[in-house]
Amino acid sequence: MKLIFLGPPGAGKGTQAERVIERLGVPQISTGELLRRAMKEGSETGVKARGYIESGALVPDEVVNGIVRDYLLSDDCRRGFILDGFPRTIAQAEALESMGVHIDAVLSIEVSDEKIIRRMSGRRVCECGMSYHTEYLPPKEEGKCDKCGKPLVIRNDDAAETVAKRLETYHRQTEPLLDFYDRRGLLIRVEGQEKVEDTTALVEKALAAVGK
Ligand code: ADP
Ligand code: ZN
Repeated sequence: MKLIFLGPPGAGKGTQAERVIERLGVPQISTGELLRRAMKEGSETGVKARGYIESGALVPDEVVNGIVRDYLLSDDCRRGFILDGFPRTIAQAEALESMGVHIDAVLSIEVSDEKIIRRMSGRRVCECGMSYHTEYLPPKEEGKCDKCGKPLVIRNDDAAETVAKRLETYHRQTEPLLDFYDRRGLLIRVEGQEKVEDTTALVEKALAAVGK
């Protein structure tokens, strides 16, 4: 039950992870979410991360490795976890191995660049962590979070130019991880669908096949 969800920005890793953790009862560790929280709190990590995130670059490995390590090795994660957004570079994957964490499967949610660009323009998020899409996953009441009722906003780094930069960053720095995990026999590829629940069905089928 120690899983990694990989995929380009906007592929729906976070949304799918949210669904699977409900069934598995393990924590979801989203480095993007942890970093946004740190920025909001204005912590030292947050201050360091802001410039990178807002320009569509990756936050330096040592910053991200630091925030993940403590939590991964804590009691909360003993029964399992889903890592969503980590690792994102070969150096991070190697750091994860050196923490002695044994991963059961790596799920890659695959979506073309063209589709990603279309999707990101409709993404809306809530400060509680929920995310929605104006077209594919609308909230029950327009502009309001289903879970907590707060107003939905567009993430700063979802601006069109930043999305293009994030995709480039993904292809250059994160995509090599597919090969890294394939060679370890851990990689499962899932074709991202238009509808969230259709992707969830494929994700669950893939997990069932590895006995998770
Ligand atoms: P998305 O998957 O849609 O890009 P995330 O919330 O996962 O969104 O990440 C948002 C941003 O946070 C990334 O573009 C990057 O700048 C930073 N970030 C998140 N996780 C990592 C990581 N593991 N390593 C470096 N930077 C990260
Ligand atoms: Zn909310």
